[in-house]
Amino acid sequence: MTYLKISSINKSFGEEKPVLMNFSLDIDRGQVISLVGESGSGKSTLLRIIAGLENKNSGDVFLEGEQILSPKEKLVPGYDEIQLVFQEYQLFPNSTVEENIGRPLIRYDKKYKKQRIEELLKLLNLEPFRNKLPRQLSGGQQQKVAIGRALSLEPQVLLLDEPFSSLDTIQRRELIFELKEIFQKLQVTVVFVTHDLDDALQMTDSLVIMHQGKLIQRGSPEDIFEKPKNIYAAKLFSHLN
Ligand code: ADP
Ligand code: MG
Repeated sequence: MTYLKISSINKSFGEEKPVLMNFSLDIDRGQVISLVGESGSGKSTLLRIIAGLENKNSGDVFLEGEQILSPKEKLVPGYDEIQLVFQEYQLFPNSTVEENIGRPLIRYDKKYKKQRIEELLKLLNLEPFRNKLPRQLSGGQQQKVAIGRALSLEPQVLLLDEPFSSLDTIQRRELIFELKEIFQKLQVTVVFVTHDLDDALQMTDSLVIMHQGKLIQRGSPEDIFEKPKNIYAAKLFSHLN
């Protein structure tokens, strides 16, 4: 059985041109993929649908065979096992690093919550910053806190929506390097969305190219470089050699 199955998703907002057209993608457990597409190609909408936060016109999402329901089909939108992280960190400005990370665990036993926060601080190398407020951290550290918060509920799938776009190149490289190791350790399934091919390649060799709401091509950088399936894919790779 496919672990995460995205099957023939169609989505439009009102009378506008469709945002997603017959979009299908199968992802294995523990796989990290980079989904690359220019601004407006439907990446965020796709992630929101996968996370059960956005309605769709047709198509299905299955996680281990269980259907992920849209907000109109489910009383409380979203799923603990699928977590979405945005570019804007959306941390609580007056809460410390540990409070931010532990926020989703509010309903859990105190002892478990404390232990889980410790695990995450250690995993993300954030222990020295535990009592700091978001504004006292660098952009990269703030984004790690946001990722820590998303990981607190032990999700099986992590969806990263252009999480590094507000960071400079060096910060991005360092953070991607660090996160790759963490994702491997956790064996979490990751869909990393970006408009930046270099960032995509730093994260993984497993690429999906998206253009104007359609999946254009899936493969390794070599596959796509050598045999791009459309002009957009060719252009994207033209600066590499
Ligand atoms: P990307 O993340 O690749 O930049 P988005 O999924 O954000 O793309 O947007 C794809 C298209 O859908 C854009 O044309 C955008 O304007 C439109 N769109 C996204 N969300 C909404 C919404 N809530 N209502 C109307 N149009 C939307
Ligand atoms: Mg987006």
